[in-house]
Amino acid sequence: MPECNLCGKEIESFHENTHQLSISDTQVAYICTQCIARFIHWQQRKLAALFPTKANQRRYRRQ
Ligand SMILES: [Zn+2]
Repeated sequence: MPECNLCGKEIESFHENTHQLSISDTQVAYICTQCIARFIHWQQRKLAALFPTKANQRRYRRQ
């Protein structure tokens, strides 16, 4: 099983579609489910700050 390129932990139940990110034709990155969730949460926080609509703020508060 490949290791996560972000946290270094072995990726449990690895699946290409879910955990393998193609950077270019020759480069791939492996990201575990936990880091994907952290990444999404991080991006949502940034989006909520950029576009502070009520819907975005509600969505962020719920998590
Ligand atoms: Zn990870």
